[in-house]
Amino acid sequence: MACVSFPYDAPVSQTLFDRASLVTPGGVNSPVRAFRAVGGTPRFMVSGTGPYLTDADGREYVDLVCSWGPMILGHSHPEVIAAVQEAVARGTSFGTPGEGEVALAEEIVARVEPVEQVRLVSSGTEATMSAIRLARGFTGRAKVVKFAGCYHGHVDALLAAAGSGVATFGLPDTPGVTGAQAGDTIVLPYNDLDAVREAFAAQPGEIACVITEASPGNMGVVPPLDGFNAGLKEICAANGALYISDEVMTGFRTSRAGWFGVDGVRPDLMTFGKVMGGGFPAAAFGGRADVMAHLAPVGPVYQAGTLSGNPVATAAGLAQLRLLDDAAYAKVDAVSAEIRGLVGEALAKEGVAHTVQAASNMFSVFFTDRPVRNYEDAKQQEAFRFTAFFHSMLSQGVYLPPSAFESWFVSTAHDTQAVERIAAALPAAARAASEATA
Ligand code: PLP
Repeated sequence: MACVSFPYDAPVSQTLFDRASLVTPGGVNSPVRAFRAVGGTPRFMVSGTGPYLTDADGREYVDLVCSWGPMILGHSHPEVIAAVQEAVARGTSFGTPGEGEVALAEEIVARVEPVEQVRLVSSGTEATMSAIRLARGFTGRAKVVKFAGCYHGHVDALLAAAGSGVATFGLPDTPGVTGAQAGDTIVLPYNDLDAVREAFAAQPGEIACVITEASPGNMGVVPPLDGFNAGLKEICAANGALYISDEVMTGFRTSRAGWFGVDGVRPDLMTFGKVMGGGFPAAAFGGRADVMAHLAPVGPVYQAGTLSGNPVATAAGLAQLRLLDDAAYAKVDAVSAEIRGLVGEALAKEGVAHTVQAASNMFSVFFTDRPVRNYEDAKQQEAFRFTAFFHSMLSQGVYLPPSAFESWFVSTAHDTQAVERIAAALPAAARAASEATA
């Protein structure tokens, strides 16, 4: 089980990063990729096979990010690649309806029972943005409840994540989002049903919807407490609001039917992305047919997209979903449990305070010994220990999410050899975490 550390500098990645930084803000096309939370040179990847990524310096890593969730079959799965090649050979975009999008919609409807109708889009952000617009159009109400620490893409109205306490009105988290855009957003602490009840009582008839990550992964993995999602559904139903479950991350990952397949709470609307695109830009929102009937061209709520239902993306997504049977989920769940156990053991051995939290096969490691139930809890962890842990793992060829507030992802391709490489890297990383100082 020897784990070989390789030279830690990454000269080719560094050169690419320097070039990128001249022409792209921060050198990246999505902020977390810049390694700002952990420091160091982001690795520019050139290829991926199974559980491994290879960077521009020719070094191989066991990938525990899996493109932030989509690559649940590992990289370059031969059947997905074949489906893509076949689709590409027929043309890449037609701007007309096509059979692939019908088949993908049918697959989603068949898997996720509350989804009676679905509309395809190109990103998770588009899916949540459209679902919120539809909820507002359907109910004729303006206000939206979201939870601190839940991320729903960079939708203006949903970039109001700050503010704990009951019925805190959202203040924009970022310049460029106006008070008006965020002013109808109510940000509440996660896992706190009383806060939700109070918000509805304070604003009768004004709240269009509650949007929540089905099981949050964007403050690290913080599963809903027993009865939380069911409580949200009940409160929404009692107040004429819609319950929107954001399954962009959990959808088709935490089970065949995503988190709905785990807790069985029936949302009015759901959003999907990541796994359903097979590594391509495909996402969706769907749910009750009477609500979806308010969308153009049937109803008055406008929503559209030049590349929506793109034939290559839908071919990739469909190929991936069709390979995701019960055996595939059992495999991903098992390897996730194994890795979680190994990480916990290594940290315990070095006396590092930690809590490993999981939602099916999604998991993350918090550097605190207290359970994490919401964003405030998550922020109490000793994130500086994660930084040391991350760099040690990276130097030994294991690629973790470059932030302490993210989920780790595994795939069906994470085999014994990949797990052994992780196991071999853990003792030194745990030691680095224990020796780290703030
Ligand atoms: N919703 C959730 C729960 C997510 O995790 C993300 C992305 O990480 C999004 C929405 C946004 O998806 P995208 O990055 O495809 O716009």
